[in-house]
Amino acid sequence: MRAYVIGNVAVDETISVMSMPEAGASILGREETRDLGGKGANQAVVMSRTGLLTTLVTAVGEDFRAQTIRDQLAGEALDARLLGSPHRSSDFSIIFTTPDGENAIVTTTESAEALTLSEALAPLKDAAGGDLVVLQGNLSEDVTRGILAEARRRGLTTAFNPSPLRPYFAELWPLIDIAFLNRGEAESLTGSSGEAAIQRLAEAGVTQTVLTLGGDGAILAGGSQVLATVPARATEVVDTTGAGDTFMAVALASAALRSTRLDAKAIHHATAAAAITVSRRGTRSAFPTQAELAGILAGE
Ligand code: ATP
Repeated sequence: MRAYVIGNVAVDETISVMSMPEAGASILGREETRDLGGKGANQAVVMSRTGLLTTLVTAVGEDFRAQTIRDQLAGEALDARLLGSPHRSSDFSIIFTTPDGENAIVTTTESAEALTLSEALAPLKDAAGGDLVVLQGNLSEDVTRGILAEARRRGLTTAFNPSPLRPYFAELWPLIDIAFLNRGEAESLTGSSGEAAIQRLAEAGVTQTVLTLGGDGAILAGGSQVLATVPARATEVVDTTGAGDTFMAVALASAALRSTRLDAKAIHHATAAAAITVSRRGTRSAFPTQAELAGILAGE
């Protein structure tokens, strides 16, 4: 089994501030880290560290950030398909973090939005039925729809994280097997929360739903039936950037490596991995290592 993660890659600049800037304010901050990020890259990096065969399909420019991206991805055990173009700039994120661990993120998506459907689909020619196609919200609408339709036609399993949020995501559910949503995404896209949101998604065709609730943990549902409710691990919260990406990647990988559907064990593994990510500053450098993930995946 292989996971094809098709999404964005970005250089993350994390700036610590005492409180979030308000409109019109000029405030002081301190650069904490410059790291590899972007939701597509985050999920692919964490998945590959679990030992699941992972291909990342993404777009970059040909600029100083692209070099940073290439160097960082070269240090990971994944098959990185970086589609470069001199006509665009590589994507980047500015992340504000506060002393209590909250974050606010601004991400550019020029490269991610320029990825074409044929570029995105080319690596899928080798995919076999049951392989995972993992998407987030940074690609253009046509490409996102086109990948999901092709994956469905080919019998691949689609997993979708509707972030950053866009209204048209609410039309995609019939093409999605597994959905991961946080509280805000569930409320915006279903108009409800908790079990009511799960019910709406099941009616729209989603086979398995995971609602992540930050420090309150996560809920796994099969169709409209809640299968597991798992509290978050108590940990020192330093920086929550990438918690959701770590969670999704480890949940999917845990199940895929055991050749099963998402189950309570996968959600426990994801919870343990995400607790490591929130306890460290940065993005890629905050993710659990291969050794840490091997320990987590060997446990219950
Ligand atoms: P982000 O956008 O910050 O990457 P998200 O909004 O997609 O994350 P969350 O629901 O905030 O996702 O978090 C995903 C998972 O990470 C949670 O289900 C939980 O297991 C873990 N997590 C998040 N916040 C905390 C916390 N404060 N303490 C422990 N675990 C946490």
